[in-house]
Amino acid sequence: MTSAPPLGEEHAAWEVLVTTTLIGKRAVVVGAGMGGLTAAGALADHFEQVVVLERDTLPSEPIFRAGTPQARHVHALLLSGQRALNELFPGFEQDLATAGAVPLKAGLDVRMERAGYDPFPQRDLGWSSYAVSRPAIERIVRRLVEDRGDISLRERCRVEEVLSSPNGDVVTGVRYEDSNGVIHTLASDLVIDASGRGALTLAVLRSIGRPLPEETTIGIDLGYATSIFAIPDDAPTDWKGVMTFGEAPQNSRGGLMLPLEGNRWMATIGGRHGNVPSGDAEGFLAYALSLRTPTIYNAIRHAKRLDGVARYGFPESVRRHFERLDVFPSGLLPIADAICRFNPVYGQGMSVAALEACLLRKLLGRMASERDPIAELAPTFFREAQTLLETPWSVANLDFAFPDTRGQRPADLETTLKFGMALTHLAAEDPAVHKLTVEVQQLLRPRSAYGDPALVQRVLAKMAQA
Ligand SMILES: Cc1cc2nc3c(=O)[nH]c(=O)nc-3n(C[C@H](O)[C@H](O)[C@H](O)COP(=O)(O)OP(=O)(O)OC[C@H]3O[C@@H](n4cnc5c(N)ncnc54)[C@H](O)[C@@H]3O)c2cc1C
Repeated sequence: MTSAPPLGEEHAAWEVLVTTTLIGKRAVVVGAGMGGLTAAGALADHFEQVVVLERDTLPSEPIFRAGTPQARHVHALLLSGQRALNELFPGFEQDLATAGAVPLKAGLDVRMERAGYDPFPQRDLGWSSYAVSRPAIERIVRRLVEDRGDISLRERCRVEEVLSSPNGDVVTGVRYEDSNGVIHTLASDLVIDASGRGALTLAVLRSIGRPLPEETTIGIDLGYATSIFAIPDDAPTDWKGVMTFGEAPQNSRGGLMLPLEGNRWMATIGGRHGNVPSGDAEGFLAYALSLRTPTIYNAIRHAKRLDGVARYGFPESVRRHFERLDVFPSGLLPIADAICRFNPVYGQGMSVAALEACLLRKLLGRMASERDPIAELAPTFFREAQTLLETPWSVANLDFAFPDTRGQRPADLETTLKFGMALTHLAAEDPAVHKLTVEVQQLLRPRSAYGDPALVQRVLAKMAQA
């Protein structure tokens, strides 16, 4: 980090540290969502200045803002993401607790309802995470970013274009419009596209005549509706949150209700392919009643509603294969949703964004002493991020259990689904297997952990019984 040099003997060591870790003068990050904020945290040790440009006005309170419409819906933060955020911004977990985030004991505090298990056995798996609103998570991270003197956060600045050298080999900066309508050009050694949709990256590739990444899509046409309630005095005491799954292939309706800071519940319900809730209070309750179990309906029907009903349509999970491109301009890196957007039902996006930022930080540290680290950064990142994306994307693939899902069905889908069912039965009986499955869901362990030969034997035995 480029803080003031210490005096005396340590000065020389400081100089060595700065010259070996700094790789550029300025990095620009587009977007102050979870991808942009975490990337800025990763970059700060390696650039003299990091500038984050955000089109929205950034609220000083943990409240909703227009640029992230998804923030009105339940945002589960996986333990992997929570830990990654704490690694990037020490003090994050403490700040969550201070902000009133609700601790949840894994395996115990969220009632999981799935066909055949209403509920799935509740047991304390030995660790906790927090439930809290997306605006609160983002506000905490933003404050931790603001606390760093080397990151400058500029709100109401809409990036219009990523700029490149005439031959398109190198990205040289961005052009953006500020709140007064003034257009600025900001030169930079590295541009991170954390704008969510990645449209700026695709536009610059088009403008320089470079190939676009291939895309794998999983079409789910998910419709979400969310409302917030005051937790009533007579709320159930045997759970703090509920997750109700439908039953593939016939019933795609499901719901997730989690506690929020301020003694509130946020309930998100929804389904696929047109099977979606309406946007009014009565329709919301009627849909909650239509879920496979009445747990969420019973909890909220007499609870005080604190908000209207917010809706969101999510057509498809999208994975852009930047790793397959032979050429990519130096000085540009798309990150987070700009690379891969996951079905939000599985609560993975923020955590993957934070894990990608940890990878970025690791790569910058490792490559800082190389001759041209910025030229090598994007291809290396795209390659190494695949390991990180593998497990969450394999979860998104389970959407093919619903027959209307669009896209390339995995050849081994039937076996995967049967294996998953048998694994669920085993997890219900055996706390160690239960713990393993939750660790994989929380992206603490890769899905390949299910390939352990002893476990496979036990799962195959269950499959044979079925
Ligand atoms: C309905 C829904 C529910 C979800 N639930 C969960 C969940 O439970 N758990 C979870 O982990 N994830 C969840 N996600 C995913 C999560 O929101 C994202 O994966 C995560 O926020 C990372 O996104 P990002 O930073 O790439 O983009 P975003 O968070 O969308 O941020 C992009 C930012 O870029 C800004 N921006 C865009 N264009 C420009 C521009 N041209 N100039 C300047 N600024 C710009 C936007 O204003 C915004 O602030 C959910 C998503 C949806 C849609």
